[in-house]
Amino acid sequence: MGNVRYYDVLIIGAGPIGIACALECKKANLSYVVLEKGTLVNSLYNYPLDMTFFSTSEKLEIDDIPFMSVNPKPKRIEALEYYRRVATGNNLHIRLFEKVLSVEKNEGVFTILSEKTTYKATHLIVATGFYDIPKLLNVSGENLPKVSHYYKEAHFYTMQKVIVVGASNSAVDAALEIWRKGGEVTMVVRGKGIGDRVKYWVKPDIENRIAEGSIKAYFESELEEIKENEVTISTQKGKVTLPNNYVIALTGYRPNFEFLEKLGVKLSKDGKYYPTYNEQTMETNLPGLYLAGVICGGMDTHLWFIENSVIHAKQIVNHIVSKNI
Ligand code: FAD
Repeated sequence: MGNVRYYDVLIIGAGPIGIACALECKKANLSYVVLEKGTLVNSLYNYPLDMTFFSTSEKLEIDDIPFMSVNPKPKRIEALEYYRRVATGNNLHIRLFEKVLSVEKNEGVFTILSEKTTYKATHLIVATGFYDIPKLLNVSGENLPKVSHYYKEAHFYTMQKVIVVGASNSAVDAALEIWRKGGEVTMVVRGKGIGDRVKYWVKPDIENRIAEGSIKAYFESELEEIKENEVTISTQKGKVTLPNNYVIALTGYRPNFEFLEKLGVKLSKDGKYYPTYNEQTMETNLPGLYLAGVICGGMDTHLWFIENSVIHAKQIVNHIVSKNI
């Protein structure tokens, strides 16, 4: 066990909230390390290249470190710049490209096995987000190479027939961008209209494009089958089969509940998988194990976002410090 490293706190995930936790640990003079399976702020790195946040830049700040943007709402590239500067400027202890595989707890100490080595820690913060696991459509053909659950940029889809599934921010942004770059876009939407949480300055744009027929939309409809060159949609008026080149299913993502369950975190049984934790301290039913960030909302991944969950870092570290006084 000579190589095992001991920490007061081990943080899983270097998203905005994992970084905020690291900064609080540093300020409280706790020994800590962050393990991240991808690059720094891996989820944001994988967002659409030209994405604009719905939050203004100061709302995305960690610990009041200024986030300057020339736009009222910053772009993904500016957020990458900001969180990188917060991490490097404060010399935070972050190990990238090191996935956590499993965790065990014995006699009050967590043993964390990563892809590279083993760690021990008295406190564990899970800030693993939600962007790694798409909510699947569970339809035939979903595993074809032409189907994607992530969207990067529009140019690839020019002059192609593209189905976009979903009607929330990601789906609407993708539909508009692809249409503007010459793709033929059809949206397939389960609800009656475009989602209520779509950015207020984007909603009229998509609704007008649909009304004028530039972008087609089937509401109260579901994708039923995907084939190499066509798709079948079940609509209010019966089944429709359309020729198709690509399907982009942007129906949301979900946290890794299996990982939480293996850790011993109790999840609600109502299909929402809400984890059990104390809202003041963010400590779960397992003493010493804390949750931070979007993961706290179970399947309701819109409940917690950067703006309102950055505060978790202070709540957790205050609790850890108060226990040790
Ligand atoms: P994440 O940013 O997802 O970070 C979790 C990290 O954990 C990831 O880097 C992941 O690689 C890592 N990880 C996962 N499993 C492991 C493992 N086993 N071992 C090691 N590392 C692991 N929020 C706002 O407040 N304002 C906005 O304007 C906004 N716009 C958004 C736009 C889009 C398109 C999307 C998808 C989301 C948006 N959000 C916004 C939501 C926001 O991005 C998330 O709520 C936020 O990223 C949550 O931060 P987090 O640190 O909890 O999780």
